[in-house]
Amino acid sequence: MKKIKKYAWVMDAFSQTPFSTKARAMKHFLTGKKSYLPKKKTHADMESVIKCALCPNMCRFDCPVLEAEKNEATSPSGKMRIAYLIETDRLDGTDAFELMYKCAGCDACIQWCPFDFSVSDILKGVRADIVADNRTPEDIVKIKEHLEKNHTMDKINIDVKGSEKGDILYFMGCTILSEKGEIAEAMIDIFNTVGEKYATIRDEWCCGAPLINLGFTEVFKHFAEHNVEKIKESGCKTVVCSCPTCAYMLRQVYSQMDFEIKAQVLHSSEYLLSLMKDKKIRFDHLEKECVYHDPCTLVRKLGIEEEPRKVLENIPGMIVKEPYFNRKDTKCCGRGGSLGSTNPDIAEKIAQKRVAELRKEAECIVTACPTCALAFEGCEVYDISEIFIKSLEKKNE
Ligand code: SF4
Ligand code: SF4
Repeated sequence: MKKIKKYAWVMDAFSQTPFSTKARAMKHFLTGKKSYLPKKKTHADMESVIKCALCPNMCRFDCPVLEAEKNEATSPSGKMRIAYLIETDRLDGTDAFELMYKCAGCDACIQWCPFDFSVSDILKGVRADIVADNRTPEDIVKIKEHLEKNHTMDKINIDVKGSEKGDILYFMGCTILSEKGEIAEAMIDIFNTVGEKYATIRDEWCCGAPLINLGFTEVFKHFAEHNVEKIKESGCKTVVCSCPTCAYMLRQVYSQMDFEIKAQVLHSSEYLLSLMKDKKIRFDHLEKECVYHDPCTLVRKLGIEEEPRKVLENIPGMIVKEPYFNRKDTKCCGRGGSLGSTNPDIAEKIAQKRVAELRKEAECIVTACPTCALAFEGCEVYDISEIFIKSLEKKNE
């Protein structure tokens, strides 16, 4: 009733309009929408692109890329306005295409959006269209070519191998394989301490997140197929990932793309908490004050915010501080959405800002993501698994 009252003036105005105007208005109403949409079929969800492009940018104040760049075009709605012009072939040029990769995939926009839009998800379709049109910037193509050749984002620098079969499969992910081997070592120590029969994949490939993020959907499928096959061969019942992005890919995105993993997929924080609940493990006192940083993908895509806190709080002596922006209101580390590879300067600025916020609470930062830990390098920073094993090591001294 309220709604009818609200729009009564439209009916009133319409009834008083001459017939020729009415006919024109009806024609535009029925065909106008089509004229706003691109003629070709797009991977991008154009209705979302248009709604977001027309929005007064309600989430702009929380976009870390805009904050770092101080350029309105990099805001969520700013990117969508440019995306609309690209999709409708009204804008061409390297700057416009490069802008489509200036997103940290943090989903801060979705927290404020009346439509629940994730601009990073909308951008995946836009980038897939750029790929389909052969207009991908050279540096982005190089990331794909590197992955096709090497199967991981960087050179593998660790030599941690479990057996090929086991109840638990530890999926390491590119950042651990190349730069944060200490997290894998901590996890392996934990598996050994609790007597878990764990396996690793000998030729583990990238989970594919950079590929699907950057619009290379077909190559992503090839990677997903490989990993799913290897996970199946291991005979595992549970896959444990330290990286929230790997966990998100294996747990949700693979099945959305019809690559089903039968085993349960856990993030390491869920696995560590389950060990505590099963009383498989006991801790000695660990005198440490830290601040916990929520990784964007863990808290916003997987909804995991209590588990890492409970793990830390259950360690006697541990004091866990909360930063002002925490849980779903967390701030990005800067390296999400492959921004560390596509726009390292922006990623670095975002990381510095977050570090300054975190350090207001404590010098020691604990997180639950190898990529966040890498972004905060130079500080005293640990993954939860490193804190977990530190406490056990102390007991064994
Ligand atoms: S996902 Fe994050 S970086 Fe990307 S547009 Fe939204 S707020 Fe900005
Ligand atoms: S993501 Fe939502 S709130 Fe942000 S600009 Fe787009 S439509 Fe507006």
